[in-house]
Amino acid sequence: MAKVVILSGAGISAESGISTFRDSDGLWEEYDIKDICTVGCLETNREQTIEFYDRRRLDLSEKEPNKAHKVLANLKNKYKNEIAIITQNIDNLFEKAGIPHEDVIHLHGYLTNAECESCNDVFDIGYKKIEESFNGKCPTCHSQKVRPYVVMFGEMAPLYENLYEEITNCELLVIIGTSGNVIPVDTFTSYVDRSILNNLEKSDAIFDELYSKVIYKKATEAIDEISSDIEMVLKE
Ligand code: NAD
Ligand code: ZN
Repeated sequence: MAKVVILSGAGISAESGISTFRDSDGLWEEYDIKDICTVGCLETNREQTIEFYDRRRLDLSEKEPNKAHKVLANLKNKYKNEIAIITQNIDNLFEKAGIPHEDVIHLHGYLTNAECESCNDVFDIGYKKIEESFNGKCPTCHSQKVRPYVVMFGEMAPLYENLYEEITNCELLVIIGTSGNVIPVDTFTSYVDRSILNNLEKSDAIFDELYSKVIYKKATEAIDEISSDIEMVLKE
């Protein structure tokens, strides 16, 4: 188990030009979130749902990791098993910053993968549209029921089990760029000795007095301080 758990959300990727959920602009505003992010939308609104994720996947090809991803990638690669990188994000910016994909726990899926609804195989499709990769078929069983590899609201998120296991066994929990609306992060503070919260501003879903340290700043401006706090704990 890792000594330090870093749990991130949309805010860590905001400075890389990926809209957070609530300050949505551009791409997000053209769609009603509930029609493309909720359990069942692949049955009731399949074409638009797949198109939405196809566009976001393509959009990722131009996005670059920011300083926060890079500093955390250096730490993760230096301390390996001592640090767990867990994210709600489906982008690949930690990977672009140099962390091997298998070392990042993506709680809500991963945009550059697709999943077969027939055999449950998960496979890499890069930045392609689903219908353009493997002719829209699963490379394993050739089924045409291929979906974005993302967890919709109301669907099971199997990796939450890893999140709980890591958090209940760590010493320092670092939360970066999440409003706490999807994952109730406050509940985790009682399991850890120390916790750091970094968001741009106060969130209605977070009671910040529960945290040992609170930093309301951009992630890229907070990350050096966070990084030295992490190294201090790892050297104890
Ligand atoms: P959220 O949009 O609810 O909250 C974003 C949080 O980030 C806010 O608390 C805000 O203060 C903070 N923030 C904004 N800019 C920041 C910055 N520059 N530095 C530090 N903090 C900053 O996001 P959420 O809590 O992750 O939940 C939204 C859901 O939407 C999640 O399930 C997530 O999977 C999904 N989502 C993912 C992406 C992505 O993959 N990059 C983008 C948008 C939404
Ligand atoms: Zn299949």
